[in-house]
Amino acid sequence: MTTAPRIDQVFDFDALLTEEERGWQQKARGFAQERILPIIEEDFENKHFRKELIPELGAAGFLGMHLKGYGCAGAGAVAYGLVCLELEAADSGWRTFVSVQGSLAMSAIYKYGSEEQKQQWLPGMAAGELVGCFALTEPQGGSDPAAMSTVARREGDEWVIDGAKRWIGLAALADVAVVWARVEDPSGEYGEGARAVRGFIVPTSTAGFTATAIDGKLSMRASVQCDIDLDGVRLPADAILPGAAGLSGPFGCLNEARYGIVWGAMGAARSCLEVALDRSITREVFGKPIGANQLTQAKLADMFLEVEKGTLLALHLGRLKEAGTLTPAQISVGKLNSVREALEIAHQARTILGGDGITNAFPVMRHAANLESVRTYEGTDEIHQLILGRALTGLNAF
Ligand SMILES: Cc1cc2nc3c(=O)[nH]c(=O)nc-3n(C[C@H](O)[C@H](O)[C@H](O)COP(=O)(O)OP(=O)(O)OC[C@H]3O[C@@H](n4cnc5c(N)ncnc54)[C@H](O)[C@@H]3O)c2cc1C
Repeated sequence: MTTAPRIDQVFDFDALLTEEERGWQQKARGFAQERILPIIEEDFENKHFRKELIPELGAAGFLGMHLKGYGCAGAGAVAYGLVCLELEAADSGWRTFVSVQGSLAMSAIYKYGSEEQKQQWLPGMAAGELVGCFALTEPQGGSDPAAMSTVARREGDEWVIDGAKRWIGLAALADVAVVWARVEDPSGEYGEGARAVRGFIVPTSTAGFTATAIDGKLSMRASVQCDIDLDGVRLPADAILPGAAGLSGPFGCLNEARYGIVWGAMGAARSCLEVALDRSITREVFGKPIGANQLTQAKLADMFLEVEKGTLLALHLGRLKEAGTLTPAQISVGKLNSVREALEIAHQARTILGGDGITNAFPVMRHAANLESVRTYEGTDEIHQLILGRALTGLNAF
């Protein structure tokens, strides 16, 4: 029997990375193997989010690692992508944690916050001592944030926020929430017109803020998403993020998180391919390894093709990001492709594993279930198709 090569060595992908990037990847791979893989099946089964790992992720430098200063690592976009890939190869829930904390909550404060806000929140969040969440989606439909109905009214020197948010990652355990709301300010000082969308930094201990974990999830079971109720939440005047006016604010953060998903989903895909490949060599049916059948090899070849293409695309987008030229439409290409192909790879891997593939002896069904969430958040397939359709035709079909 021939020995199968490690799939990430076939294209010599490592040769395309710097030593520093390889170092980040090794660190994340080690963390995933030592700290997440041994417990993830149990946590997924028991719907348990192991929050004690958060300071360890902070100590490893993974939280807000692409940001500079304030205790953040200041790493490049490719290094961050590789960390997302390695964490999601273990479980999408842990890559999601890093995305919500670093790409969404911390990025919002970093990009749009005052110096005081950055000093107050970012070092603790980078260390994993404080947890942040990013509250944009509302119960009536996440695909159209322009229809937002959460309102921030100006009353004297205070803001008063009323509304509801849904599907907000980490909210029940977060120390701070970045809440997006439509401003009602009679003075017209904030935003274009009196109803611009603005971001607010809301300590979750503020009266009127209630987060309730959403139960019954068959996906992302080892992580936490919540409903948030905002009932007369009173905040000081300086709770507003001064640098963000309108929906370009939250979209600037979503693009950061979408970029991480381009890489992360390929981690889940690689994990599925690895176990399918291993099983195809060790499992014998009809007196020979199932991998000796041309039909199985065709599946493996197609899965391999998409993992390689998707990872190379992620690297290309990472280099564009580092050069400062990455566009939202390019991110949509990557997000749509990575998640769609990762799901297909998970489904094909499950067929190769046969009946055993539906059990938690293999990570494949867990990845497939998680990827259903990844397909939906940060812009559904359809939303990214609409973004690309608009970029191609110049016609807005939303
Ligand atoms: C696990 C998980 C974690 C999440 N974390 C966060 C978070 O931390 N913060 C946050 O703010 N949100 C978060 N979300 C919310 C997520 O971003 C939304 O679920 C997503 O935007 C889709 O919104 P929706 O679920 O309301 O679906 P809807 O908007 O109701 O869409 C339903 C379907 O209709 C389709 N559709 C809608 N409009 C069109 C159109 N014009 N043309 C064609 N098809 C269309 C959609 O593509 C989708 O298939 C999370 C969601 C999940 C599942």
